[in-house]
Amino acid sequence: MNNYNTWLKTGFVSEKIPMETNLKDEILYLKKKKNVAILAHFYQNAEIQNIADYIGDSLALAHIAKTTNSDIILLCGVYFMGETAKILNPQKMVIVPDLNAGCSLADSCPADKFEEFIKKHPNHKVVTYVNTTAAVKAISDIVVTSTNAAYIINNFPKEEKLIFGPDKNLGNYLNSITGRNMVLWDGACHVHEKFSVEKILELKKSVPEAKILAHPECKKPVLLIADFIGSTAAILKYSINSKNKNFIVATEAGILHEMRKKSPDKNFIPAPPNDSTCGCNNCEFMKLNTLEKIYLSLIYEFPQVEIDEELRKKAFLPIKRMLEMSEEGKQN
Ligand code: SF4
Repeated sequence: MNNYNTWLKTGFVSEKIPMETNLKDEILYLKKKKNVAILAHFYQNAEIQNIADYIGDSLALAHIAKTTNSDIILLCGVYFMGETAKILNPQKMVIVPDLNAGCSLADSCPADKFEEFIKKHPNHKVVTYVNTTAAVKAISDIVVTSTNAAYIINNFPKEEKLIFGPDKNLGNYLNSITGRNMVLWDGACHVHEKFSVEKILELKKSVPEAKILAHPECKKPVLLIADFIGSTAAILKYSINSKNKNFIVATEAGILHEMRKKSPDKNFIPAPPNDSTCGCNNCEFMKLNTLEKIYLSLIYEFPQVEIDEELRKKAFLPIKRMLEMSEEGKQN
């Protein structure tokens, strides 16, 4: 119980698990026994992706969270993803393996400051990226992901004035491809901001035939040298369909696991960040999740995501609009 109390306070558990425990088998057993759906983001470690029921980007995970029949959702990603699952499923228990798995991008946009920013731009509709807190979603008109952002923005009448937040790199990219002039919040993801154009070009000299694939959260100079720009799901799809055999991938390195699984005959190289000797770029928040923590969170059914009901209802509407529009987009 002491360990449980420590976990309550810190979101972190230090319980000693017996060495002989087969974590994978135990997790699969508990998952079945408790009717749990394990949803994992593409940026999770390979061992977590391998025990997940569903792997996807933010949009796919939000769709699955809305439709799953399981009693419990265990969200292996970062906290705002658990919040999104709870906003969509207030009646279900939503667990995240580590409460400390935050997001530098979501943290770069505190709700009170964002509200002041909105007030400074009256008569603007507010479009926010899904990487935000529930409180920011609650003051947005619509939420988008990198998969559906351009489609949703293009659906606003051309004369409609828009605010976009929190990612300025994604916002700049969206302005360039949609021809809009959205007012941008000055936020960024520390992982995607770190890619180095010089190091990528240096790497390309040794594999000149490699295609550079970049996520739109990267800075403009990286996007300018990319052969393809897209969400993690779009990058994955491009790599599967491409005849090319070599790819330099400028997004969080966790996606390489699924790319290699889907195309075992192809060569995927993580794009190097500017401050690393290991050559790849990992999100330390995403990587806080471990099999040990997943196992313990299934035993204790903790830590759970809880959201005030008034806030949840407000945050639900812009997510619902997004899911409805992205469904329409698929049918058109
Ligand atoms: Fe947030 Fe960036 Fe980590 Fe994604 S990679 S969870 S945007 S900090």
